[in-house]
Amino acid sequence: MIQSILNSVDRVLEQAAFSPPSLQAVGVGAPGLSNPETGVLFTSPNLPGWRDVPLMEIIEEKLGKRAFLINDANAAALGELYFGAARGARNFIYITISTGIGGGIVIDEKIYTGTLGIAGEVGHMTINDQGPLCNCGNRGCWETLASGTALAREARRQIKEGAVTTILEYAGRDVEKVTAEGIHKAAQGGDGLARSLIERTGYYLGVGLANLINVFNPELIVIGGGLSNIGDMLLQPAFQEAGRRAFKQSYGAVRFAQAELGRNSGVLGAAAFARREMERDSKTLATRGSRKFASHGFPRKRREVKR
Ligand SMILES: [Zn+2]
Repeated sequence: MIQSILNSVDRVLEQAAFSPPSLQAVGVGAPGLSNPETGVLFTSPNLPGWRDVPLMEIIEEKLGKRAFLINDANAAALGELYFGAARGARNFIYITISTGIGGGIVIDEKIYTGTLGIAGEVGHMTINDQGPLCNCGNRGCWETLASGTALAREARRQIKEGAVTTILEYAGRDVEKVTAEGIHKAAQGGDGLARSLIERTGYYLGVGLANLINVFNPELIVIGGGLSNIGDMLLQPAFQEAGRRAFKQSYGAVRFAQAELGRNSGVLGAAAFARREMERDSKTLATRGSRKFASHGFPRKRREVKR
């Protein structure tokens, strides 16, 4: 996989007729938990076998250029901030709904990375403590209830229980081949089950949005990812539920926008991240919230509570 990443660098340089010596740095957006300071990818639920990979170091060594590693959803958030739907926003949240749910939290125009660089895993907020098992090992995470995978899984379950629907016509009559896309098509054709499944997904989407709105009081939430292309049929129930649950003031203050850059958001964001980091002398991120808070307010001798 690393070799194919390196090959893609060569290919892109060629396509852009850009001479390798003028390449300054490479920004890598990778799924999973990674530390943008050390460039280590800890783990990735969707890339089995990747564990504690010093990806930044490997790429720097192979290319002889500086490299910067950032979570793919965080990269996409930066892409939308610099070039897309979030231009001009200071505090916003980007979410991407596809097979899972990813997110990036931007506070004062900077990605909030947390202590280890792995903040923003909004897809793993617990929405239902008894809910379906998640790839992360927990139950009832947001992405087990409001992602494309969740939508298709619930459709399969109901079809196996004998629900009457045209969804199978979009899956070659094979219940195991039911996809979110097929469900969307069936819904557009007026299928009742497909519509109610999308509405249910929207409902859970709204529950999670309400949590984010109450916690962060953002001015904007940018929604991207394949499933968001369903549009109103999914998003209207989500906004309705978010409005029911969130504080009225917070909900009244937030705007929603669909992502503008599609699949390019992560690529543009990773590149912008690399450029911004190059512009700094050190690789230290300025958004280390914990440090900021630790420096004032707390008494010197903190009494820690045992866990
Ligand atoms: Zn999870």
